[in-house]
Amino acid sequence: MAKNMIQFQKGKSIHEFLSEYGTEDKCQDSLFRLRWPHGFSCPNCGGSKFCELKSRDLYQCHKCHHQASVKAGT
Ligand SMILES: [Zn+2]
Repeated sequence: MAKNMIQFQKGKSIHEFLSEYGTEDKCQDSLFRLRWPHGFSCPNCGGSKFCELKSRDLYQCHKCHHQASVKAGT
């Protein structure tokens, strides 16, 4: 009985969390703008052209193929 109550409340709080903070995409977008407020800049060569590796949350430089994450420091 008590276990069911906890599971119900847990599910509800996850839903509330999502509606409060938006989708993961929005989160990723704001992280990107925090890291590169003036647009992407490769930490390795300074290049501004990149492609997104959505499955891994990484941005890959077109020039040197360095992969940068918005979540890691460097
Ligand atoms: Zn680069």
